[in-house]
Amino acid sequence: MLVVQKYGGSSVATTEKIAAVAERVAERAKEAQMVVVVSAMGDTTDELISMAKQLCAMPDDRELDKLLATGEQASSALLAIALHNLGVKAVSLTGGQAGIITEKSAGKARILKIDCKRLKEELAAGNVVVVAGFQGITENASWADITTLGRGGSDTTAVALAAALKADACEIYTDVDGVFTADPRLEPNARKLDTISYEEMLEMAGQGARVMHSRAVELGQLYGVEILVANAFGNVPGTIIKEEDEDMEVRNPVRGIAHDMDVTRLTVVGVPDRPGIAAQIFHALAEANINVDVIVQNVSSEGRTDLSFTVADADFEKAKKAIEPVIEQLGAKGLLTDQNVAKVSIVGSGMRSSPGYADKMFSALAAEGINILSITTSEIRITCLIERDKVKRAVRALHKAFELEKV
Ligand code: ADP
Ligand code: ASP
Ligand code: MG
Repeated sequence: MLVVQKYGGSSVATTEKIAAVAERVAERAKEAQMVVVVSAMGDTTDELISMAKQLCAMPDDRELDKLLATGEQASSALLAIALHNLGVKAVSLTGGQAGIITEKSAGKARILKIDCKRLKEELAAGNVVVVAGFQGITENASWADITTLGRGGSDTTAVALAAALKADACEIYTDVDGVFTADPRLEPNARKLDTISYEEMLEMAGQGARVMHSRAVELGQLYGVEILVANAFGNVPGTIIKEEDEDMEVRNPVRGIAHDMDVTRLTVVGVPDRPGIAAQIFHALAEANINVDVIVQNVSSEGRTDLSFTVADADFEKAKKAIEPVIEQLGAKGLLTDQNVAKVSIVGSGMRSSPGYADKMFSALAAEGINILSITTSEIRITCLIERDKVKRAVRALHKAFELEKV
């Protein structure tokens, strides 16, 4: 039996917590071979980013990757040391040493392949293998650079390793009891779900439910890895992310409410309204590896139109830099930016086959006096852009309107 576990930053925030994780791992290692992925301790990643930014407003991607990867390297070595202290054979590996090869793209590199040779040898030698999450290396052996997988990426390390090693279980341990109908820190009445489909979890994660990294869910679905999300130190059952089954269908069609405050809206004002303009703007953003969401093009007047879209706060400076030359080239009138925005979404695979969800969502927000700035949808999700300071009220109103509360 081979188990892959992942412990998030808050679960390894102090040496006491690392010692407690070691106890749990040691217990499980009596019956299973184990690969344990760890995040950096507590707020280490944020602190490292902030130090880099004190020195330079836009730190170089390569150096930032190398810096951030140290957080997970420290926690993985410390966990191995704590395991040794309990008499458990353990070895810690960086992402690169674990054979995780990624594309070059700095900051949110995708995994290209995993060479499991070293991992398998260490397991065969009787070691618990502790892997530094959130990182890999580029392919070219003599010029290999350290890369990182994007914020929250240790989840992706864990699921990718579980898939590559064909593990019997993949367990993500965090600071809440599982996946809830809404962020339990914002909605005290949120209910823990026993199961959620990959598809639904992907939409929730993509719209801000940071309990799982969306690429981890994507990999889980692709390789058929069932993922348990549970409390690192509790004894409650947790949530299983898996393929949708009939059971799920009879439940409330809206499974959860997601929110995302990490959003900036950019509006390119007075764009000439002719074919190919949007392509030019979004090409520049794609080249800079920036994900864009909630795109709205306003009705044009006098041959000109306004084009709005949102990006993650963290990509804001990069996005601005990427499109400024295009704006000038196009002869657009200017760029407006707004950081006082956020997204709220309702998600559920049952929405696909029945109408009326948009109506109910917009009515619930209207009843709270919350203005909707723009709207996007997928087959199983509706997202509204609203003012940031209204998010808590919006989440609670929607949670109530769709009857998701604890019974
Ligand atoms: P870790 O450090 O373990 O990776 P994260 O902070 O990345 O933990 O993710 C856990 C957090 O996700 C929780 O503390 C919770 O506030 C937040 N969260 C947001 N939406 C949800 C949800 N629907 N269910 C559970 N937790 C959620
Ligand atoms: N330490 C990284 C972060 O804070 C990765 C992770 O925790 O998954 O984003
Ligand atoms: Mg996380």
